Amino acid sequence: MDNCLFCKIIKGEIPSTKVFENDQVFAFKDINPQTPFHVLVVPKKHVSSVAEIDQLSNDEIAACLLAIRQIATSESSLSGGFRIISNCGADACQSVPHLHFHILGGTRMAERMA
Ligand code: AMP
Ligand code: ZN
Repeated sequence: MDNCLFCKIIKGEIPSTKVFENDQVFAFKDINPQTPFHVLVVPKKHVSSVAEIDQLSNDEIAACLLAIRQIATSESSLSGGFRIISNCGADACQSVPHLHFHILGGTRMAERMA
């Protein structure tokens, strides 16, 4: 999608700190980290959020979760655990309308999630 920030990051038109890439998925450090480790995992195909995940193939959906697993298990600071969040829509304060999964960790997080 032409005017999408994360599509531009995937294409390299906007710089990012890449941590993982394969045919279906791109992952990069969040520019405003909420925890010591904060990475965003996005499908290369543009869909706005989980609400449109039916527009991805099962392979593309699985690729996101497998990328999350690969990133998290290779990161020593996440050995104690990590949290995955995907904000979906205005009530969840989604600010970038390209599906993304936040991987948060490297610290003990709050029990409360909202
Ligand atoms: P959300 O609010 O769930 O839509 O998350 C969007 C995330 O994108 C936020 O955590 C932002 O800090 C992050 N973000 C925005 N612009 C950039 C950028 N240029 N590079 C990396 N992360 C970004
Ligand atoms: Zn996009």
